[in-house]
Amino acid sequence: SSALRQPKVDPVKHALSVTREQDFAAWYQAVISEADMAEESGVRGCMVIRPWGYGIWERIQKLLDDRIKATGHENCYFPLFIPLSYFEKEAEHVDGFAKEMAVVTHHRLIQKDGKLVPDPEAKLEEPLVVRPTSETVIGAAFSRWVQSWRDLPVLINQWANVVRWEMRTRMFLRTSEFLWQEGHTAHATVDEAMDETMKMLEVYRSFAEECVALPVIAGEKPENERFPGAVATYSIEAMMQDGKALQAGTSHFLGTTFSRAQNIKFQNAEGQQELAQTTSWGMSTRMIGGLIMVHGDDDGLRVPPRVAPHQIVVVPMLRDTEEDAAILDYCSALVGALNGQDVFREPVRALLDRRPAKAANKRWGWIKKGAPIVIEVGGRDVAGGNVSVLRRDRLYREDGKLDSRIIAKDDFLAQATTMLEGVQQALFEQAHARLHDNIDRTIASLDDLKSLFAASSKPGWALVQWSKPTGAALDKVVEWLKGEKLTLRNIPLDVEAADGACIFTGQAAVERVLVGRSY
Ligand code: AMP
Repeated sequence: SSALRQPKVDPVKHALSVTREQDFAAWYQAVISEADMAEESGVRGCMVIRPWGYGIWERIQKLLDDRIKATGHENCYFPLFIPLSYFEKEAEHVDGFAKEMAVVTHHRLIQKDGKLVPDPEAKLEEPLVVRPTSETVIGAAFSRWVQSWRDLPVLINQWANVVRWEMRTRMFLRTSEFLWQEGHTAHATVDEAMDETMKMLEVYRSFAEECVALPVIAGEKPENERFPGAVATYSIEAMMQDGKALQAGTSHFLGTTFSRAQNIKFQNAEGQQELAQTTSWGMSTRMIGGLIMVHGDDDGLRVPPRVAPHQIVVVPMLRDTEEDAAILDYCSALVGALNGQDVFREPVRALLDRRPAKAANKRWGWIKKGAPIVIEVGGRDVAGGNVSVLRRDRLYREDGKLDSRIIAKDDFLAQATTMLEGVQQALFEQAHARLHDNIDRTIASLDDLKSLFAASSKPGWALVQWSKPTGAALDKVVEWLKGEKLTLRNIPLDVEAADGACIFTGQAAVERVLVGRSY
C-alpha cells in the first residue's frame, strides 16, 4: 500500500522527560526546573527565582513600567510592614485578607535552653502585618497628600514583594511571597476613577498581548470575585494549554471604600469637603506561570522575543583545536553586529555562549530555556561564511529532525530582526487561535454545560448567557458551579449583547459570562 512507501518517521524524542499530554502539572514543574527558572527555597510557597526566570521578570518590569509611566504614573516605595490597626479600619478588606496574613510580633530573639526564641521583653506594642497589598498604607499617605481638588489626581505605582499565606501554592502561579507592581490612584470624581480603572485594564490587555504574546479576554469580574473592598473588579483572563483559565491582571474601582477608611478628603472647587475616588491595579510574577503554560512545549519553554532576556544565543562549536580562536572571533563579530541592530524599538539582545560545555548540551540547554533563536557556528560554517539557525517556534522538520538551517551569515544578519518579529507573531497567533477556538458559545442549559466539561479533558471555556444574579442568588450559582469544579471568570467587555434566557435562573439574560476551570 501507499502507506508502506512513505519515508519512515522517527517519533520525535523531546527534551523533557514528561509531555504536556501525559501530565500537564508535572510537565509545568519540569519546564521550570529544566529551564532553570526557579526552585524551592525551604519555605513553603516561597521560591528562589533563578537568573533566566528573573531575567524574564525584568523584561516584564521594563516593558510594563514604560507603559505605566506613559499613562502618567510615577513610581514610589512604601514600607513592607503595615500597622495592624490600618487594616481594622476597613472591615471588608480585612475579612478578605485576614486568613492569609503574615504578622510580625517581636523585634528581638534571645537564647533559651540553647534555642533562639522571640524575646518576650521585645514584643511589639502593635503587631505589624507583612503587606498582602498596600491600599491601607498608601491610603494613609494619600490622606496627607490630598487637601484640595488641585492635588488630584494622584497617580502612583510601586514595584514590590507582597505576602499572602496561600494554602495551595504552585511556582509563579500562586506563591506566598510574590513580586508585582501595584498602582494606586485617587481622583475627584467617579467618572475619572472609572476611566482610570478601564485605562489600566487596557494597558494590561495590550501589554499581555503585545509583549508576552498572551491573548486574553478583558472583562468585569462577577460580584463574588471582587477584590475585598472594591466596588468593581476587572480582569484579563488567559487560557492555558490544558484549557484552564488564569487571571493574569486585575484593575479595581474602589469608590470611597478606602478614602473613607483612611480619610482621603479634599476640598472641591465649591469649597466643600469630599471623599476621593480611588483605584488600584496589579500584575504579578504569576504572568511568568502564564507564559510557561501558554507557550511552553514538550522541549521546554518558548519565550516571546520581546520578553526574552537573550533573544539570539550564539553557540560556538569548539573542539580544543587551533580553529577555536577563529570560530570565537567569527561569533563575537556576529554578536556585535546583531547587538548593533534594533528590534521592537530596542537594541537586539544577542549572547555569545562561551561556557566550556559541549555544544550539543548548550544547544539543548537554550532550547529548553526557550531562547527564540539559537545559532550554531562550527569550523565549516566559518570557512563557508555561514551560520546554522534554529527557530524555537518551529523546531522540527516534517520528518521529525531538528530544523537547523544553514544560512549565509550576511543573509542572517539582514533577516535577524524580521525573524524575531516572526517568532513573536507566531507565538501570539498559535495562542490566539487556541483561545478563540476553545470558547464554546452554544451552551443553552446547565446540562449542556455539564456535558461540555465532562466530555473533554481540555474543555476550554463556555460563554453563557445569564441574568447577573446578585447576593444569595449568585451564591447559589457559584455553589452549583463549584460542584462541577467550575468558576465564573469574567463578563467580557467586547462581546455581543444577551438575547436569550439565563442558563442558571431561566430569567431573561442581561449579559454573557465566561465559565471555566481555573488556576
Ligand atoms: P489582587 O490584588 O488580588 O487583585 O491581585 C493582583 C494580581 O496579582 C492579579 O493579577 C493576581 O492574578 C495576582 N496574584 C494574586 N495572588 C497571587 C499569588 N498568590 N501569587 C502570584 N500572583 C498572585
